[in-house]
Amino acid sequence: MIEHAVVTGGAGFLGSHVCERLLAQGAAVTCMDNFLTGSPRNVAHLMDRPRFRLTECDLTGFIHVSGDVDLVLHLASAASPADYLRLPIETLKVGSLGTLHALGLAREKDARFVLASTSEVYGDPLRHPQREDYWGNVNPVGPRSVYDEAKRYAEALTTAYRNSREVDTGIVRIFNTYGPRMRPHDGRAIPTFVRQALTGQPLTVTGDGSQTRSICYVDDTVEGILAMARDDFAGPVNIGNPEELTMLGLAELIRDLAGSRSPIVFVERPTDDPMVRRPDITLARERLGWQASVTGLDGLRRTVEWFAGELDVTTGGRVIST
Ligand code: NAD
Repeated sequence: MIEHAVVTGGAGFLGSHVCERLLAQGAAVTCMDNFLTGSPRNVAHLMDRPRFRLTECDLTGFIHVSGDVDLVLHLASAASPADYLRLPIETLKVGSLGTLHALGLAREKDARFVLASTSEVYGDPLRHPQREDYWGNVNPVGPRSVYDEAKRYAEALTTAYRNSREVDTGIVRIFNTYGPRMRPHDGRAIPTFVRQALTGQPLTVTGDGSQTRSICYVDDTVEGILAMARDDFAGPVNIGNPEELTMLGLAELIRDLAGSRSPIVFVERPTDDPMVRRPDITLARERLGWQASVTGLDGLRRTVEWFAGELDVTTGGRVIST
C-alpha cells in the first residue's frame, strides 16, 4: 500500500491521471509541477481532496517535500515534439537536473523511485518490435535529441543511483499514450487529428502515412506505471499497447469515429521521425502481470467524445473553458 506519493509533472496529461488513480487507491499525493506544458486545470477536480497537495515548483531548482514519502514518480518533462522542440534547454534540464533532484528526494526519503522514460530511447529503431534489450538508434545531434538523449541520460542516472546509492529505482519506457486531457494543440498526432476532424479541417498526415505507431489508452498506461511502482523491479520495462497502426490508418479511424467528412492531406515528415514503433511487452506481462486492455477503437472513441465536449467547434478547436 502506497502511503504518500510525490508525482513530478503531476499537472500534465499523464501525471493528472496518475494522481487521480493514486488518490482512488487511498494514497496521499503531492503533485509538483511548474506548469510549463501542464496546467492546474488538469488537477482542479482534485483540489478539494484532503490527501491531495499541489506544489508549484521547478524541479531543476531546489526541491523539498516535508514528511515521509514512500514513492517518487518522476514524470516531469515536456513530451510532445512541438513542446520539446520549442523548449530544448528546459527539456534537457528537467531530464538531467530534474531527474537528479527527484532521485535525491527518493534517496533522502528512502522511497521507491520510478522514472517515466520513453520509447523514444529506441530512436528510429532497426529492430521491430522493440524489446528492452535493444539499445536504440538515436541521432545525438538531431532536433529530437533534446528529448531522446535527456531520457537516455535520465535512465543512466537512475541506474547509477540504484547501483551506487542504494535507491530502489524502476524505469518504465512508455509508448505513445493518448486520452482525455491532452491539449488539442500539443502537436501530437491523436489530439491533432481529433481536433481537425471535429472542427472540419483537413487531417494533416505526415509523409505518406505508412509510418506506424502503437497507441495505448491512458488508463492502461497508468496501471502499468503503478504496477511498476508497487514492484521492486529495476526494469527498464516497456509499457505500451502492441496494437500497431499506420498514421494514415489512424487518421481514417479518427475521422470515422468523429463522423467527419474532413479530407486527409499529406504534409512533410519531421526530421528523424521514427518509421515504426511497437513494444514487445513480454517482460511487462511476465514480471508485472500487466498488459493493455483497452482496444484502440474503444480508447479512441472515448477520446473523441471527450474532445467533442471540450472543443469549441465554432472557433476552430479552442478549448471552451480557457
Ligand atoms: P505533459 O507535457 O502533459 O506533462 C509533463 C508535465 O511536466 C507538465 O505538467 C509540465 O508542466 C511538467 N514539467 C516540465 N518541466 C518541469 C519542471 N522543470 N519542473 C516541474 N514540472 C515540469 O506530458 P505527458 O504526456 O503527460 O508526459 C508525462 C511524462 O511521461 C513525460 O516524462 C514523458 O516523457 C513521459 N512519456 C509520455 C508519453 C505519452 O505518450 N504521453 C510517452 C512516453 C513518455
